[in-house]
Amino acid sequence: MTPRKWLRRKAKFLQRRYKDLRMIAKGLASTDHPILAHIIPIRRCNLSCSYCNEFDDHSKPVSTEEMFRRVDWLASLGTSIVTISGGEPLLHPELDAIIKRIRSHGMITGMITNGYLLTAKRIEELNRAGLEYLQISIDNVRPDDVSKKSLKVLDAKLRLLAEHAEFHVNINSVLGSGIRNPEDALSVAHHAVELGFTSTVGIIHDGAGQLRPLGPREQEIFREIMSMGKRSFSRVHHFQRNISRGLPNNWRCRAGSRYLYICEDGLVHYCSQQRGYPGIPYTQYTADDRRREYYTQKPCAPLCTVSCVQQVAVLDFWRGPQTLEPVPSAADGPQPVVSPLPAPDARLPIYQPGTTQASFASLVPGAAEGQARAATASAPEPTLTSFRTRR
Ligand code: SF4
Ligand code: SF4
Repeated sequence: MTPRKWLRRKAKFLQRRYKDLRMIAKGLASTDHPILAHIIPIRRCNLSCSYCNEFDDHSKPVSTEEMFRRVDWLASLGTSIVTISGGEPLLHPELDAIIKRIRSHGMITGMITNGYLLTAKRIEELNRAGLEYLQISIDNVRPDDVSKKSLKVLDAKLRLLAEHAEFHVNINSVLGSGIRNPEDALSVAHHAVELGFTSTVGIIHDGAGQLRPLGPREQEIFREIMSMGKRSFSRVHHFQRNISRGLPNNWRCRAGSRYLYICEDGLVHYCSQQRGYPGIPYTQYTADDRRREYYTQKPCAPLCTVSCVQQVAVLDFWRGPQTLEPVPSAADGPQPVVSPLPAPDARLPIYQPGTTQASFASLVPGAAEGQARAATASAPEPTLTSFRTRR
């Protein structure tokens, strides 16, 4: 790497750190603005992973003017981070203009992609547009009938990123129901770290929206990959560790308030897994709506796997008890894909890092059952076509 390139990377790294700290300070000082929003500029994808419920093979891109309006609206709310997702966002013909628009407001800019369309030229263009964070999810080492997001296929793209990207790259691997070979997640994570990227691991739930505890070897792999992560996410690691054991978490999901998911139709949803709730057009989504959702308890929270929303929730974990029930307003909209679970007892303490499994199980109804399920994790896996993951 040339000294000039090294210096540019260093400068961008320091700028990202500064913006991250500013985002945290602002998030702690006020609960009135969204911390993170996901926007969908196109629902179409160039792949068709059999577990995925977040793509189609035909939709047109959302017009750039409309995407600008959504970005400007998020900026007007004081949103700190905007992540572009899909479908496959690289299929949007004016993606770079959308990235530039987000940056023009001073917001942190991220993207989740399957990586297939990356070339050296495209990566340099993303550098110039001002992309700051990129995540690629890799599901296996070799492509199979479930997923082509495979290390063998994407390795050349990862090497291009290592050489050209001036933005942060995170590689997410997956464990859980339906994943044939859990060792693949470890291979993906090690390779990511060798190339200088960060590595995370997501846990998949089955087609009924229910989580299954990981088996003993999967848990070992899970712990090893988590230990490669950053200490700053240690609280989220506790969330994820509980989920890996089939244990519920007692936390306050701030989806619809501190986290917004805006679909290609411009509707605000809790998250990718709860589309239809509340399902209100963003132009009609008011400060009152965000305030209501801040205080609304989400019945799907105990076994939620959406770690970006959990990370956002960390900024408010000690304040704003949730006393309201969810009210779906999109009468014709899709039904939630995560089966509602019994709401956690509002009197229970919020889960704290350092709480042992045993002590937490004694506090949370159902946790002991989860531990029992974890102990019998060798139960048959669901079919491969019936699982889905978070992006
Ligand atoms: S998981 Fe990602 S790459 Fe696979 S079909 Fe869905 S949107 Fe496309
Ligand atoms: S699935 Fe998770 S992130 Fe989405 S609304 Fe439920 S608890 Fe919140």
